[in-house]
Amino acid sequence: MKVAVIGAGIVGITTAWELARDGHEVTVFERRGAAAEESSFANAGVLAPGYVTPWAAPGMPRKVLGHLLSRHAPVKLRLPLSASELRWMWKWWRACRLETYLLNRARMQRLAFYSRERLHALTAERQLEYDRSSGYMVLLRAEKDAKMIEPGLQMLRDAGVKFHQMGSDEARKIEPALNPDTPFLGAVHLPDDEVANCRQFALLLKAEAQSLGVNFEFNRVVTHLDKAHAATLSIAGEAAPRHFDAVVLCAGVASSQLLRPLGINIPMAAVYGYSVSAPIREPVNAPRSALMDERYKVAVSRLGNRVRVAGSAEIGGSPAHKSSSSIQTLYKVLQDWFPGAANTSHAGASVQEWKGVRPMLPDGPPLLGASGRSGLWLNIGHGSSGWALSCGSARVVADLVTGKNPDIDIDGFGLGRLGP
Ligand SMILES: Cc1cc2nc3c(=O)[nH]c(=O)nc-3n(C[C@H](O)[C@H](O)[C@H](O)COP(=O)(O)OP(=O)(O)OC[C@H]3O[C@@H](n4cnc5c(N)ncnc54)[C@H](O)[C@@H]3O)c2cc1C
Repeated sequence: MKVAVIGAGIVGITTAWELARDGHEVTVFERRGAAAEESSFANAGVLAPGYVTPWAAPGMPRKVLGHLLSRHAPVKLRLPLSASELRWMWKWWRACRLETYLLNRARMQRLAFYSRERLHALTAERQLEYDRSSGYMVLLRAEKDAKMIEPGLQMLRDAGVKFHQMGSDEARKIEPALNPDTPFLGAVHLPDDEVANCRQFALLLKAEAQSLGVNFEFNRVVTHLDKAHAATLSIAGEAAPRHFDAVVLCAGVASSQLLRPLGINIPMAAVYGYSVSAPIREPVNAPRSALMDERYKVAVSRLGNRVRVAGSAEIGGSPAHKSSSSIQTLYKVLQDWFPGAANTSHAGASVQEWKGVRPMLPDGPPLLGASGRSGLWLNIGHGSSGWALSCGSARVVADLVTGKNPDIDIDGFGLGRLGP
């Protein structure tokens, strides 16, 4: 089949690769000049399937409201919210009900574990080398943080995830560079989880896909999909539309815009976050792998010879405006745990401050599969876990496009669950 993929983020690239492996003739259209320039550019890189859960969880609305006025709040609402953001919040609030949460959590984790398996298989098969380290540690500053993660630990037990609870002395043995002057209660260590550079992987897999014949067309904005035959698409500046047998939409947060004229209304919110990446000054003072400061919901990751600190979730606002307080929180957390690890002086251009967006559906799992329009398939809405879910989502969608049964149960990944 002749298949078009819209978007060359981590989701589009993994999808193109899987489709090409199945023998399809694949063209990827990307509006930017290169791959992985938007959400997949500088995320935290954490691959922790046991922690891939919906944001719509019991107790979350109270937490979000409770944080509204705090300076280092992990979640921020930039008021006023638009009508579509308010509608999204309403759907999100409804999805926080326990039974909805449990259902969506099970779906996301099924996909996340499958995804990890696919990532490892692909990495080994193609001998891909990218920055990655094993182990993930959740840092607990005090008793109240330990209480906050209790439900999460039960979830890990239910999912059969290996983890160890430990005091600060033991945690310091695993991460010896943890600041001796920052007292903390303890940590949870997950030895099988990992951190890896999403953009590097995307670029490597793009080259592998090209070797299988995938054609990447950059600087091409897909303006719309044909209403009668959605596998026909139009590109800005081109007079004639392009015809395909199938189109897979992987356009991240821009996906809902392309679907709306077809009568498909997806509640997708742009949830912004930030990262700071800086070169390691002294490896002895740097983290060995990834850590999560549970209090501030900030991840500190070792990515090769750089440290990346990432966090914050802002609903509302614009992609261009960077919040200095959110960025200050990242520097604060890095300073608290690993002072002197990285060269964060702005004198050199080597410190990268990034604002990215999570393409977030209100209830959690991404949308994978048929769109209800002939020839148009979806692989969208991966929220805060797009890297962790990408390889599995791509295989599932490629199976569906090819007419095969996916390896995992895909109940609940369709449009139907979002209602009218
Ligand atoms: C601060 C932060 C930290 C994060 N940390 C993690 C983490 O630790 N682990 C994890 O798993 N996930 C994490 N995420 C989430 C993850 O980064 C995203 O879920 C993932 O990158 C989404 O990938 P995507 O391919 O769907 O979107 P994108 O990477 O945005 O790709 C979509 C592509 O489509 C293109 N496009 C859009 N519209 C058009 C059009 N009309 N025509 C042509 N091209 C178009 C865009 O230019 C873009 O390149 C984090 C996100 C943020 C913001």
